[in-house]
Amino acid sequence: RALAGGGKERADRATVEQAIDPRTRLILFRLLSNGVISGLHGCVSTGKEANVYVADHCGRAEAVAVKVYKTAVLTFKDRDRYVAGEFRFRRGYNKHNSRKMVAVWAEKEFRNLSRLQLAGVPSPVPLLLRSTVLLMTFFGRDGWPAPKLKDVSLSQRRAVDAYRQTLFAMRNMYQRAKLVHGDLSEYNMLYWNDTVVIIDVSQSVEHDHPHALDFLRRDCLNVTNFFRGIVSPDCAVDEEGQDRESTRLLGVRELFDFVSDVTLSDTMDQREALDKRMTLLPTEARSSREQEAQAEIETAVFMHAFIPRTLHEVEDHERDIDMIAEGRGSDLLYTKLTGLVLEDTTEGHHQTSQSAELPVADADEANGEVL
Ligand code: ADP
Ligand code: MG
Repeated sequence: RALAGGGKERADRATVEQAIDPRTRLILFRLLSNGVISGLHGCVSTGKEANVYVADHCGRAEAVAVKVYKTAVLTFKDRDRYVAGEFRFRRGYNKHNSRKMVAVWAEKEFRNLSRLQLAGVPSPVPLLLRSTVLLMTFFGRDGWPAPKLKDVSLSQRRAVDAYRQTLFAMRNMYQRAKLVHGDLSEYNMLYWNDTVVIIDVSQSVEHDHPHALDFLRRDCLNVTNFFRGIVSPDCAVDEEGQDRESTRLLGVRELFDFVSDVTLSDTMDQREALDKRMTLLPTEARSSREQEAQAEIETAVFMHAFIPRTLHEVEDHERDIDMIAEGRGSDLLYTKLTGLVLEDTTEGHHQTSQSAELPVADADEANGEVL
C-alpha cells in the first residue's frame, strides 16, 4: 500500500470535507507517515466540536478511533462553565488562541479517559495525544462503530442490566475517578457486547468543581429519563397478571444519592444497596403509578434545590444533625454526599433506626472539610 501517498490524499480529502485546519492535517499526515496509523478510514461522526474517524493502528490488531477536535469552533460546549473553578485550569487558558484552547480540551479528555480506566469504568483506552488529535481504542467491528445507547433496542432484561451498569459506571466515576461526566446521556454511551461504554469526557469535571453537583444532578436526570422510556413499569406484573417482586428504577434524587453516597463501601455494599433500592415488593407494585406521579414532583423540587457540599454552606447544620438523629433528615439534600447519614432514610420502606445512633462526633469531624 502506498502509505504516504494514499495517506496524504486521504488527509487532504478529510481537510476539504471536514474543514480540518492545516496544522491538524499535518498531525494526521505525520501519524500516517511515521507509521503510527496505517490508514485513516471512514468518518464515524462529525460533531459540532469534533470528528471521529476509524484508523488502522500499526501496532495493534484492532482498529482505533481518532478524535479530531475542531479548532474553528468558538462556542466550545459553553466551555467556560466547565473550566471556571477547576483547579487544573487555575492559571486560566488562552481564550484568544482557539487552537491552544481546543488542545486543552483534547488533553482533558485524554486524562479523564485514563482516570476512567484506573477506576474500572468501561470506556475507550486513551492511546496517544498530539495536540488536538486523540487516539483511543475503537468500539465496533469492521469499521462500524458500536451503536449509541439511544439507538439499540433492548429486551427488558437487558435494559435493566444496562441501567445497573450505567449506575455503577456513574458511581465509580464519582467515587473512584473523582469525576462527574457533565454530559451524560444515551448519546454519550455506547452499547457493545452487552456492555455500556462511557465516552465523550472532555468536559467532565472534578467532583469538587463548583458546578459538579449541578452537573451530576443533570446527568442523573438524563439517565433516569432515558431508562424510564425503555424499562416498562409493567414488568412488575408477570404473564398471568400476578404481582411479583420486581424491579423499579431509582428516582432522580435517589440516583444522585446512590452515586454520591460516601458511606457505601466500594464493591459489596454498593451492589447490595442498589439491589435493595431496585427491588419492588409485591405490596408496592400496585401503587407504582401513584408513586411515579409523586416521584415526578419530587424530581422537580430536587432539580431546583440548592445542594450544599460542605457543612459550611448549611445554614444551621447543628439543627440538621439533631433532625437526622431523630430520623427526620430525609429532606436534607446533603446527607449522603457528606456522609452524615449511615443508613438509608430517604424512603419509607427502607427506613431504619440506624441513623438515630449517628455519632455526633463524626459529624463534627466532617465539619469544614471539603467533601
Ligand atoms: P462529540 O463531542 O462530537 O459528541 P464523542 O466523543 O461523543 O464526540 O464522539 C462522537 C461519536 O463518535 C460518538 O457518538 C460515537 O458514535 C463515536 N465514537 C467516539 N468515540 C468512539 C470510540 N472510541 N469507539 C467507537 N465509536 C466512537
Ligand atoms: Mg458526544
